[in-house]
Amino acid sequence: MSTPRRTVALLGATGSIGTQTLDVLRREPGAFELIAISGGQRLSELAAIAKEFGVSRVGVVCEEDRRALADMVGAHVEIVVGSSGLSELARCADVVVNAVVGFAGLPVTIGALEAGRRLALANKESLIAAAPLVAKVRATPGAQILPIDSEHCAIHQCLAGSSSAPGHPDVRRLLLTASGGPFRGWSKERLARVTKSDALQHPTWSMGPKITIDSSTLMNKGLEVLEASALFDIEAQRVDIVVHPQSIVHSMVEYVDGAVIAQLSEPDMRLPIAYCIGSPERLAHGWGRLDFTKSFGLEFEPPDREVFGALDLAYEAARRGGAAPAWLSAANEIAVEAFLNDQIPWSKIVPVVAQVMDQYEDDPLDSLESLFANDATARRLAHGMVTP
Ligand code: NAD
Ligand code: MG
Repeated sequence: MSTPRRTVALLGATGSIGTQTLDVLRREPGAFELIAISGGQRLSELAAIAKEFGVSRVGVVCEEDRRALADMVGAHVEIVVGSSGLSELARCADVVVNAVVGFAGLPVTIGALEAGRRLALANKESLIAAAPLVAKVRATPGAQILPIDSEHCAIHQCLAGSSSAPGHPDVRRLLLTASGGPFRGWSKERLARVTKSDALQHPTWSMGPKITIDSSTLMNKGLEVLEASALFDIEAQRVDIVVHPQSIVHSMVEYVDGAVIAQLSEPDMRLPIAYCIGSPERLAHGWGRLDFTKSFGLEFEPPDREVFGALDLAYEAARRGGAAPAWLSAANEIAVEAFLNDQIPWSKIVPVVAQVMDQYEDDPLDSLESLFANDATARRLAHGMVTP
């Protein structure tokens, strides 16, 4: 790359997106300098990353982890703790990759935007929960969100050249593609017998456990509708879902004249990650290249919204706005965790979220304090439903 060396902070460095981001950075040592990382567990991996990249600042979740990590890295490495530590690290680099999972990623999203940084965003939960607040901090000079989520990265690319007028008047709709997850075509009766190992097998992507379960319930696609609406400032009714089992068309934009623009590649998250940290330049890595010397087919079908109730819940949360998406995402985090801990069966994940949403009362969500209060209430209600 011809641009000057960019500094990078990678928060959530030990996870699936985190380790794939390291692959991108390893390929471009002259272009990027990793200066800060964080991780929720796996301290020895975190220490190894700090050593390999010569990172000077590391974030951990608690004091105990700080002490344990301090023994593994030298005294020249500064260790910061908790959400205030994450917020600090999110302000220190040109490009901030938010690869934390769940609502815990909020300080990264807010911190990076407040500091006028480029936020390369994988952590959809923070944007969904805090959409009205993120819309405000996004106006900070220099602040920019580039989406790592493959569908949104595709839409971002497909919107290039569209009208810059508010509300995207030349766009009819965004078409979010969905693999359909491991249970595409299954009946409700069959889904009642799903096991943990069934749900953890994704047909096309290898990802962290939370998003893998979200993909099996299609809650991930519901969350992605909310994510697209917030990212591109477009009503959720103009975001449609198309099931596409091959995961080659990563999403599409349909313009008012009927033209549909799509972005294609083999499924490989390093492609959207490299796009987000390299933009406006494209890195010549070749990950995800399609082989057109072999024949292959692309299929599309509508989602089964009756069997996968998470989709209607997400559209309803979008319609209500305010804190409703925060409730949906918080309740879902608790339900997924309960499933992964064998407290509830797979078939109860979405009903738990639906029961929590039944208790939601409209709240415009005008401050971070109100967001934390709403998040806590939704979690408490969901906890009550998953504990015997
Ligand atoms: P993961 O579980 O593999 O990794 C999560 C990272 O966050 C780890 O480094 C973990 O240590 C850290 N972490 C967990 N809890 C934390 C806490 N309380 N405080 C601070 N750090 C914490 O998850 P992932 O699959 O890499 O997903 C990360 C985010 O990217 C999610 O929001 C997910 O929806 C999104 N995403 C992932 C993929 C993918 O292919 N994995 C694709 C699109 C979007
Ligand atoms: Mg996605």
